[in-house]
Amino acid sequence: MMVGVKQRYRYRLYRHPHQQVALAKAFGCARVVWNDALAKSRELYAAGEKSSYPVLAKLCITQAEQTPERSWLSGPSVVLQQSVRDLDQAFRNWWASLSGKRKGPKVRAPRFKKRRCAQSIRFMSHVFRTGERSLTLGKIGTVPIEWSRVLPSDPSSVTVIRDASGRYFASFVVEVEPKPLPANGKAVGIDLGLASLAVTSAGEKDRPAEVSALCAEASPASAAAPQAQAERFPPPCRCSAEGGSTSASIADKRLDFLHQLSTRIIRENQTVVLEDLNVSGMLKNKQLARSIADAGWRQFRTLLESKALQYGRQLVVINRWLPTSQVCSTCGHHDGKKELSIREWQCPSCGAVHDRDINAALNILTAGLAESQNGRGAAHKSTALVAAGWEAPTHPIAEASPCPA
Ligand SMILES: [Zn+2]
Repeated sequence: MMVGVKQRYRYRLYRHPHQQVALAKAFGCARVVWNDALAKSRELYAAGEKSSYPVLAKLCITQAEQTPERSWLSGPSVVLQQSVRDLDQAFRNWWASLSGKRKGPKVRAPRFKKRRCAQSIRFMSHVFRTGERSLTLGKIGTVPIEWSRVLPSDPSSVTVIRDASGRYFASFVVEVEPKPLPANGKAVGIDLGLASLAVTSAGEKDRPAEVSALCAEASPASAAAPQAQAERFPPPCRCSAEGGSTSASIADKRLDFLHQLSTRIIRENQTVVLEDLNVSGMLKNKQLARSIADAGWRQFRTLLESKALQYGRQLVVINRWLPTSQVCSTCGHHDGKKELSIREWQCPSCGAVHDRDINAALNILTAGLAESQNGRGAAHKSTALVAAGWEAPTHPIAEASPCPA
């Protein structure tokens, strides 16, 4: 029997004016409890002790409510408890990722939540109820919802989000039956870049001018976020890189575009090969615009992972750095380093003329196919690639983490 695939389904919420205060309070209290519990966990670990949900809930909710500094702490207790549970889980995910027990993209350590960022509270299934045009949340009340598509199954939880521009959303976690598509034997390699978000080995440069312009518009804002420079991969935090309603619509359009692109790629191909972001992002892009691209790539990869699971496709992520821009995809000749400004080059060995990104995508495909066939039936090209100084790629990604919190 196949296991269901967890997915998120998101809908627009329209709160009643009188619910604004209750919601704002719940967001604020959940955030403070999360931050207190995070600070406390760090203290405990620094002292060599272990933090756990019961300990944190006692310290940061029950006992905190008795202190003058936190006497105002109210809001639905289930929401506060959930905040501590989620923090506890975030720590576990992080450790599992560090130790290699958790597959998929690396999980970051839990971070403090900021007031100016998107706010969220989570309700487990026993404290919310869905109605024909509404969502009833424990201690908050009945909130109008726009069911833009049908929920495929009973949700296990809902996260209520207020984005940086003040819009409300309900994001449900549901289990979806996998619907494997008929195998078609096709394979594609994808090169992730800045000029084009995704270039395929089939020669498609998948980023409409519109999306390109939208992202360029969003990049100056990212320059204002100092953490974007300090960290290799800033969190996909909507407000550090993008603030206000203009950016919210940019983010919406980008997500829309990524949805369409990932669906099409998964439908058309049996095997999809990507380079690991930790490698490709670090080496190829040194500009600030990278932080915007990072967020897009992460979203894109997450979408590809969850759709691959749902439709029975294979996603291969090559984890090791390969000189994809330096090797001729036709003959395997290693032509040395190429500046980013060189968009096209001719192989001195076989004479093939290459578009830089398409050539890279072809090399990614070859490496991924060699990997997925486990070296057995590796194409002659891959032998040439290894001879040209490529290392054998590792770790096909069989499972994904389709629903990041
Ligand atoms: Zn060549």
